Amino acid sequence: MSRVASIVPVTSSTAICSGLPLPRGPAILFSRMGTKSRETLYGSPVRAAAERATEARQEADRLAVAAWNKRMLDFQGPAQPSPALDDALNAGFGYLEVKCLGCNTHQTVALDIVRRPKTTPVHELERYMRCKDCSQVRGHPYKRSHLVALRATKITASDPPSTWWPGER
Ligand SMILES: [Zn+2]
Repeated sequence: MSRVASIVPVTSSTAICSGLPLPRGPAILFSRMGTKSRETLYGSPVRAAAERATEARQEADRLAVAAWNKRMLDFQGPAQPSPALDDALNAGFGYLEVKCLGCNTHQTVALDIVRRPKTTPVHELERYMRCKDCSQVRGHPYKRSHLVALRATKITASDPPSTWWPGER
């Protein structure tokens, strides 16, 4: 997805590409970087327009994630094309749920610590992820998995794995 250039110069975000987890997506960065003195330089109409653009991007990212999730959960793919890492994060979906084909368990991968460029589409992650348990058992990296869906939260007892509909085939 192409982005409209933001008004605040992005200087620091590319510098943190150390593999360390970034706190949040661009929407939050935007507001965090707006200092008091800089805000007085912008007229409020400019600021309001920029805020609307940020909100519109976030909404577009949310819709793109929802569309992808629907395709994955209702039709089981195809996974391509898919939202980019930063689009998913911007939409508030910090996790990718995958199903290991070796042990059939569903696992969540935190997107903010994935060591890939943030422009990487999430479907490309499939071939990089490996199941820890299966890799240990087999003695080599086990990378056969299915992408399930993007999630806002990790899989827990209160937030169980997504279920395919109309049931797994
Ligand atoms: Zn496994």
